[in-house]
Amino acid sequence: MRLVMASANPHKAIEIAAVLREAMPDVQIVPRPPSLGDVTEDGETLEVNALIKARFVCAAVGEPAIADDTGLEVDALGGAPGVHSARYAGPQQDAAANLAKLLAELRDVPSHQRTARFRTVVAVVFADGREVLADGVVEGTIATAPRGEGGFGYDPVFVPDEATPSTFAEMAPEDKNSISHRGRALRALAERL
Ligand code: IMP
Repeated sequence: MRLVMASANPHKAIEIAAVLREAMPDVQIVPRPPSLGDVTEDGETLEVNALIKARFVCAAVGEPAIADDTGLEVDALGGAPGVHSARYAGPQQDAAANLAKLLAELRDVPSHQRTARFRTVVAVVFADGREVLADGVVEGTIATAPRGEGGFGYDPVFVPDEATPSTFAEMAPEDKNSISHRGRALRALAERL
């Protein structure tokens, strides 16, 4: 089977390909054609946004497409930024600004109340209309300052419970993938395909 990557984010695409290579060795991952325009992710849930992206690419290329949508849910912020994680600090989708805003919002929140989770929904859409979804969650806490050079997005401040005290950005890629929201969602997806 061939799966066309619907996610334009190169960090995500690398993680998706690495996990799927292990979980589904027979699947060939095809990069997103650069000629495809952007699609507006205006859904109010991760599921809807993942489907928007996968449907768009599948319709454009006529082949099965895989998309991921991810949110960071911070308990002290009532679950924010959640589905709005990419645009938390504004429409420019600036990762450094998003991270700075998150740390500022949590400035006075003590460590035991800094619990959070990443949630990912992955969707595969086939040309015949079949749609397969799966999700994955990793629980953790938000650090008081960024640490580490790896990963992307909010990784420098996310400390997964299973790897405390390391942030995702301090972990080797294969260690992040083994416990991450995205790794879990993709392995669940592989079981359903
Ligand atoms: P989206 O799924 O591309 O809409 O991503 C939502 C937001 O979460 C973006 O700001 C991403 O940078 C961030 N994000 C997505 N996946 C991860 C991850 O694995 N680690 C850290 N941040 C992430």
